[in-house]
Amino acid sequence: MNKKTIRDIDVEGKRALVRVDFNVPLDPDTGAILDDSRIKATLPTLTYLLDHGASLVICSHIGRPKGRVVERLRMAPISQHLASCIAGSISTAPECVGDMVTTAASRLRPGEMLMLENLRFNPGEESNDPEFARCLASLGDIFVNDAFGTAHRAHASTVGVARCLPAVAGLLMEKELEFLGMALENPRRPFTALLGGAKISDKMAVLERLLERLDVLLIGGGMAGTFLKAKGLEIGGSLLEEESLEFVSKIMATGSDRGIPVVLPVDVVVGDSFDADATPEIHGVGDVPEDGQIMDIGPETIDLFEEHLKKSETVFWNGPMGVYEFPAFAQGTRRMAQVLARLEATTVVGGGSTADAVIGLGLAGEMDHVSTGGGASLEFLEGKILPGVAALMDR
Ligand code: ADP
Ligand code: MG
Repeated sequence: MNKKTIRDIDVEGKRALVRVDFNVPLDPDTGAILDDSRIKATLPTLTYLLDHGASLVICSHIGRPKGRVVERLRMAPISQHLASCIAGSISTAPECVGDMVTTAASRLRPGEMLMLENLRFNPGEESNDPEFARCLASLGDIFVNDAFGTAHRAHASTVGVARCLPAVAGLLMEKELEFLGMALENPRRPFTALLGGAKISDKMAVLERLLERLDVLLIGGGMAGTFLKAKGLEIGGSLLEEESLEFVSKIMATGSDRGIPVVLPVDVVVGDSFDADATPEIHGVGDVPEDGQIMDIGPETIDLFEEHLKKSETVFWNGPMGVYEFPAFAQGTRRMAQVLARLEATTVVGGGSTADAVIGLGLAGEMDHVSTGGGASLEFLEGKILPGVAALMDR
C-alpha cells in the first residue's frame, strides 16, 4: 500500500472528517438495520482516532435518495446504532453542510463525534460539486477515507474533499487494499479462485485479470451454465449468456495453454422452475432435463472443489455457487463457505451477495477478509485505479 494512513500522521487535537460506508441494508417496513457489518468494520478506525485525541465528523450515504431528502434514509438510526457499538458521545446533524453544522463541528472536543446527514440528500455529492466539497472539507482539519465500498465513485466526499484537506486512508480501507492487492500481486501458491454468481458479463475483466495470476479456477453458480454450454453440453432452461460463449471458450483455451485447470461442475442441482418451492433434483452435467434449470452445484462437484481448495494457500471467492436465497438451492454455497472457513489458507471473499451469504452463515469471522465493497472490489481486481484511493496522499 503506497498510500498514507491514519497511522502515518499526527491526529491529536485534530478534527477529522471521516468518510465511512454505512450504506447498510434496512428493513423496508420497519427501517431496522438488517446487517451492521459495515458499521462494525469501521470501529477500528473510529476507535483509533478517538484514542489518539481526535474529534470526528463522520459522514456517509445510505440508499439512493438522488439529491433529495428521503425521510426513511436519514442517518439518525445509524448514528444511534453506532453509539451502542462505541464509547464516546455522538450527536447527529440534520444536514451535511450549513451554519448549524459548522457550529456543531467547531464545538467538538477530543473524543466527541458528530454524524452528518445522508450525503446523497445533497445533489452536489454525486456530481462532485467543488463548492459542496469545500463546505464539507471546512468541517475538518484532516480527511480520513474508510469507505472502500464507495472508493470507485468520484464524489464530493471521496475525491472532492481530498483536494482540500490532507487525506489519508482509514484502517478498513488499508485492510481492503492489502488483502485484495495481495490476490493481484503476490498470492501464496497454489492460488485458487472460486467464482460463481449470476452474470459473466459483470466479471469478464476480473476473470481475465485473475487468470494471469491463478493456479486453479473453479467455476460454479449461474455462470457455470454458459461454460458448460460452450463445451457442447445441453443446459435446458438454465441461465445462459449467448454473447459470452466466445469469451468463456477463450478463458478455457487460455487456461489449458497455461496449464491452469478451469474446473467446471460435474453434477448440478436442477429446479423445475425458478422459485423457492421448485423441486431440487441432482443430475450429471451431461443430463440436465430440457425443462429444468441449474440452480446449484451438486454433491460430487462440492467434493471436487473441496479437493482443490484444500491444496490451496490463497483462495479468492466471488459469487454464490447457486441460488442461495432459496434454501433448497443453498447447499453448494453453504458447503463452500464451510470449507473456506476451515482452511489454513488465506481466504478473501468479495462481492455483495457472496459477503451476504457468508455473513448469513455466521462464518465471516473465519475468513481472513470479507470485502465490504461489492462493485469497488470488482473494479479493484480488474486493475482499475479507484478514484477515492488515488486521491489519498502517497507515502
Ligand atoms: P456477488 O454480488 O457476490 O458478486 P453476483 O451478483 O454475481 O454475486 O450473483 C449473485 C446472484 O447469483 C444471487 O442472487 C444468486 O441467486 C445468483 N445465482 C447463483 N447461481 C445461480 C444459478 N445457477 N442460476 C441463477 N442465478 C444464480
Ligand atoms: Mg452482486
